[in-house]
Amino acid sequence: MKVILIRFGELTLKGKNRKECERVLYNNIQKQLSDFELTFHKDRNRIYINIRKVEYFEEIKGIIKKIPGIHSFSIADVCEPNIETIKEVAINNFNIDMPCFKVNTKRSDKTFPLLSQEVSRIVGGAILFANDGLKGMRVDVKNPEQEINIEIQKNSAYVFHQKILGMGGLPIGTAGKSIVLLSGGIDSPVAAIMAMKRGLKITCLHFSSPPYTKQESLQKVFDLVKILQTFDKDIKLIDCNFSEIQLAIHQECQDRYEVTILRRMMLRQASRACYKMRSRVIITGESLGQVASQTIDGMFVTDNTVPNLILRPLITMDKLEIIKLAEKYKTYEISILPYEDCCVIFLPKNPATSPKLEIIEAEEEKIDFKKLIENSPIKIYKYNDLHQTNSILDELM
Ligand code: ATP
Ligand code: MG
Repeated sequence: MKVILIRFGELTLKGKNRKECERVLYNNIQKQLSDFELTFHKDRNRIYINIRKVEYFEEIKGIIKKIPGIHSFSIADVCEPNIETIKEVAINNFNIDMPCFKVNTKRSDKTFPLLSQEVSRIVGGAILFANDGLKGMRVDVKNPEQEINIEIQKNSAYVFHQKILGMGGLPIGTAGKSIVLLSGGIDSPVAAIMAMKRGLKITCLHFSSPPYTKQESLQKVFDLVKILQTFDKDIKLIDCNFSEIQLAIHQECQDRYEVTILRRMMLRQASRACYKMRSRVIITGESLGQVASQTIDGMFVTDNTVPNLILRPLITMDKLEIIKLAEKYKTYEISILPYEDCCVIFLPKNPATSPKLEIIEAEEEKIDFKKLIENSPIKIYKYNDLHQTNSILDELM
């Protein structure tokens, strides 16, 4: 039988909270793999997934790579913990295309009658014997072409080749909950992934302004959230209709402050959502100096609006660095589709780069923003709702 051995990431450092972190990771793994018939168990150092159908392995591997909190994993053969069986399994697993090899053994069952080094030597000898005459066959502990790893525990032994690197980070949920301001652009989906990687559970909040923004731009956001759900199926999308408030700002406030005021309104709505969710954190995809509203002064007057902690995972990153991550996480090709975000409708020619707080507050007094925010229509979409919609990329093809 094949087993996936999962090794924990940084949570091994978490002292007293470690148990809780492991429990959260265990649940997250089960949830993300719930479409497959698998069984799971765990012990102090590992989580184990039993796989009966190896044909799903590539798909399962792809999912595990996106679960924060996993340092590395391996696909292993599991067998009885006795040297004869271990030898047999190791020989069967040997890849004859890479004849220069090394055996590593780790023995967590100290009552096992052989020392780790002895096991490696015996199994290495058996592999050499079984492949006698094969060209290039030899042991090289410094530069092997393949490694055979053996882990011996009380009730089972595991034999595997490589360790596949996981995403690292902390299990989603161990750092609490947050609201991500998700536009259809390149930056905010990457910021969302970075936040999840450090253990934050996210809910996405998107602002649309129909009929000024089209259904296609909302579909783009649906498609982005579907990708984010490959990290966490629980992610919900809140779509908030901001047409009325945007129109009011456009009609009543000075053009050059429109963007700053709109951003402050977005944060106010995000703060309300946080309050309902009992969360304190708002995440944005802002990067210092990228556009007029993302200067220090610009961000200072927006942060000032709400009592929440505003995190900007991309703040020090260049656009090219962000694009690389977007490509890696497969959000890029959706983000670059040309449908307009609500931020760019009514975009002023010269937005203020150093807006003064008093001026902004005076401008805001011109509209009844509290009521407009409270009355802005909201729709919530969950996993199944989004997966019933057709991807906009499919429609384009
Ligand atoms: P992105 O590429 O994520 O769209 P951007 O570089 O285009 O970011 P802005 O449009 O100024 O920058 O937006 C900055 C941040 O504000 C975004 O990263 C996102 O977190 C938030 N934001 C912008 N527009 C929206 C929207 N329509 N709905 C929700 N959040 C938004
Ligand atoms: Mg944008």
